[in-house]
Amino acid sequence: MVTAYIGVGSNLGNKAQNCLKALEHMAQGSHTSVEARSSLYRTEPVGNKDQDWFVNCVAKIKTPLAPRELLSFLLAIERAMGRERKEKWGPRVIDLDILFYGDMVVEQEGLTIPHPLIQERRFVLVPMAELAPNFLHPVLGKNMAQLLALCPSEGQEVRPLEMG
Ligand code: ATP
Ligand code: CA
Ligand code: CA
Repeated sequence: MVTAYIGVGSNLGNKAQNCLKALEHMAQGSHTSVEARSSLYRTEPVGNKDQDWFVNCVAKIKTPLAPRELLSFLLAIERAMGRERKEKWGPRVIDLDILFYGDMVVEQEGLTIPHPLIQERRFVLVPMAELAPNFLHPVLGKNMAQLLALCPSEGQEVRPLEMG
């Protein structure tokens, strides 16, 4: 069994509900269990600014699946939830990224772990630092709290989402 961290994001439809629905899919998967999730955050779009704000969180899961198999499972959840792939970094119903897979480093065609942009993204680092502040990035050798402190916040607002 490996502990993996999954980045969850949505900026179309009921964004918070979409994130929670994706977590339900992971909880119901016969080869994945959800150990914990971060709070939900409302986050400023990064990259393509001309779109609505996102809701993001991070899930801590346990799985016996190999990295490739885990990616296929996550892409199947995205498809089941109606994700359409249009322009890069465009609006999406759900986005599921493998942030970390234990402390394994994977560099394959179509799969890079740790996810290569973690250290630049407050929408990933804020929920990661909430869940696992002492977790060490296996390539960068810094923990999540340290990476968050080093990450520029300009144009990257991340706020706890008010529910209800
Ligand atoms: P970004 O990766 O910058 O967050 P994105 O999530 O919008 O961009 P997608 O269109 O969702 O990008 O994914 C494109 C491809 O990225 C996926 O089909 C997958 O093959 C590949 N990919 C590479 N590494 C990972 C990873 N760690 N987690 C998820 N997908 C990955
Ligand atoms: Ca992504
Ligand atoms: Ca993705």
